[in-house]
Amino acid sequence: MLQGTPILVLKEGTEREKGKGATSNNIAAARAIADTVRTTLGPRGMDKMLVDGMGDITITNDGVTILKEVDVEHPAAKMLVEVAKTQDQQCGDGTTTAVVLAGELLKRSEYLLEQNVHPTVITRGFQLALQQGKHLLEAEIGTPVKPGDDAILIDCATTAMGSKGVFGSRSELAKITVQAVQKIAEVRGGKTVCDVDQIKVEKHHGGTISDTELIQGIILDKERGHPRMPGEVSNARIALLNSALEIKKTEIESKINIKNPAQMQSFLDEEDRTFHKMVDSIKAAGANVVVCQKGIDDVVLHYLAKEGVYAVKQVKESDLQKLARATGGKIVTGIKELSSSDLGTAAKVDERKVGDDKMTFVTGCANPRSVSILIRGGTEHVTQEVERSLHDALKVVASVIEDGVVCPGGGASEIDLAVKLRKWAGTVGGREQLAVEAFAQSLEAVPWALAENGGYDSINTLIELRSAHDGPKANKNSGINLQDGKAADMWALHVIEPLRVKTQAISSATEVASMILRIDDIIASRKSSPPSGKGGDHEH
Ligand code: ADP
Ligand code: MG
Repeated sequence: MLQGTPILVLKEGTEREKGKGATSNNIAAARAIADTVRTTLGPRGMDKMLVDGMGDITITNDGVTILKEVDVEHPAAKMLVEVAKTQDQQCGDGTTTAVVLAGELLKRSEYLLEQNVHPTVITRGFQLALQQGKHLLEAEIGTPVKPGDDAILIDCATTAMGSKGVFGSRSELAKITVQAVQKIAEVRGGKTVCDVDQIKVEKHHGGTISDTELIQGIILDKERGHPRMPGEVSNARIALLNSALEIKKTEIESKINIKNPAQMQSFLDEEDRTFHKMVDSIKAAGANVVVCQKGIDDVVLHYLAKEGVYAVKQVKESDLQKLARATGGKIVTGIKELSSSDLGTAAKVDERKVGDDKMTFVTGCANPRSVSILIRGGTEHVTQEVERSLHDALKVVASVIEDGVVCPGGGASEIDLAVKLRKWAGTVGGREQLAVEAFAQSLEAVPWALAENGGYDSINTLIELRSAHDGPKANKNSGINLQDGKAADMWALHVIEPLRVKTQAISSATEVASMILRIDDIIASRKSSPPSGKGGDHEH
């Protein structure tokens, strides 16, 4: 080691990269991710076929799904994947947009870095642009809507599903989506809240997408436990159990020494008594339906059938919780503790044939806010893509009902914000102004990609859109009409999005771009490769 120089002690095998090299390496990795998903943006975006380690395939256009599946190594690229996940959690939509914007911010930053603008100045400029951008979105670009404005809510759901592989059935799915979310909307502490996790989505392939239906109640992907049980129970009183109706197997393998037939008989009798007690407890509580998270012994099922009780076993924990909320029942652990006050109620529990399988429908629940959507579609790939589309649409409608603000899609909001921010940049001054202008330009990546994916000349489209947003005849709702690549009013084309999708996308894109720009040193301990003598501080 050199003497007199400060020594940073790093473990052998640690890789280190400093300064501009580190920054541009990070930017390149993040941009690679953005480029991967950019071609999927918008209704004309292409799909990606993902093949996992087991050879299973997923065909999708959904940014977050793609990024979740690809195995990303580079730490900066991983940060971009996180942006998509955050966007998904907050809005359910706009994941591709957020990632594309982050990639674009980094691309523009690279140019500024080359001009010797310091990363701190760039990030400060981005922050200023973000604050002003959010203000402009709320004050000038958004339009208020009421929770009962079905037409606009349906437009938002339709737009959210526009880029997914469910194109033909969008309007039916959009109606179902809006009805479902309106059902679960509730006012808590003076605010409207829509917890879409309350909506039970069940999918079953067979039939077509248009067979997808909204059910006022809960669907369980389970048939009744015994063919002699009633296929339908009216005025259902439902016991919800999360422990097994079986005889516990001892932890340590035990041997029961049976020496003669009498002993054998008494052992069996004992078992039978235990099963009887279980059924007696259920009868005593007054239940005519049993939903059990764990197993139910065949003998118990047989006795329950004799008593005319409808029982299902091996129900998912999350379904049991949804049922508890829907029926007003309490989940009980020990069957002995079951009492009539724990039972949930529903007008009807019945078994229905769905495709080739049977499912249990719990309808007319005590809680009117319980709804399920039963997704149908030709194949599993289709039902999966419908599920992803519905996930986006449900969250989109929920954000519109919660926030009560929407904005035009098709790149209209982004272009309008870009034009307004560019004008505002002059008031910022200094080198930060350059960053604000770069921010404005980055926003144009959205209409650019929409045009490019639609097969149109992006430059022409952008020029047309810019002029449509400026001057005396400016229309803030002008976006790209993907039928002809020309500027058109997005309200007239029913391309509407929640404002939250836009504010969240610019926020998380700015956050991750700033984070990546501030890194000037990558210190990575190599996992498994043997130390090669390289690394550490050897380039002095
Ligand atoms: P994201 O993951 O960001 O939601 P999408 O692939 O869903 O990406 O594309 C969303 C973009 O497509 C939004 O900018 C939206 O306004 C735009 N878009 C959706 N439908 C249309 C349409 N009919 N015409 C023009 N743009 C549309
Ligand atoms: Mg989308």
